[in-house]
Amino acid sequence: PELTDLVREHVREIPDFPAPGVLFRDITPLLADGPAFEGLVRGLADSYRGRVDAVAGLESRGFILAAPLAIELGVGMITVRKAGRLPGPVIGVDYALEYGTARMELRPDTIERGQRVLVIDDVLATGGTGAAAIELVERSGGEVVALAMLLELAALGGRSKLDGYQVDSVLVY
Ligand code: 5GP
Repeated sequence: PELTDLVREHVREIPDFPAPGVLFRDITPLLADGPAFEGLVRGLADSYRGRVDAVAGLESRGFILAAPLAIELGVGMITVRKAGRLPGPVIGVDYALEYGTARMELRPDTIERGQRVLVIDDVLATGGTGAAAIELVERSGGEVVALAMLLELAALGGRSKLDGYQVDSVLVY
């Protein structure tokens, strides 16, 4: 509840960004507020302490959350990146967007077999990015402990693409 309030109070809603008709949730005010950002990271860490061996951040905003969380948990950080950004060898997963497709990639050698991985991103929308990340982590031999999201846009139904996985959203719209 404390974390939920903290996120609610620091997220801005931007109409018609990045395209007309889209209501964008902007987390930059939360990041810019030192005590709020620290409280968020410490609060998230308390939920997973001792339960994860690595934190996987999803490019780009997931990186901002994954790095301090990994440090706080005393584990490493894994980068799940957009196509073409990681030097090889990489594995990739293509997935459908509302218009077109996207691809996320991972270096499988950054994950050890059986490692318990927490996947984190800022927003769960349609769930395509999260589902791709799960597939990449599992194909690399990791075990997905949970997906942590700051915000979940429930109307977009992302949770249904993540069936069978623990999805922890700090704030649900
Ligand atoms: P999905 O694959 O679940 O449809 O989309 C999730 C990805 O899109 C996340 O990486 C997230 O950063 C981005 N995203 C979608 N909608 C929003 C939004 O309203 N605000 C922010 N900050 N990111 C969004």
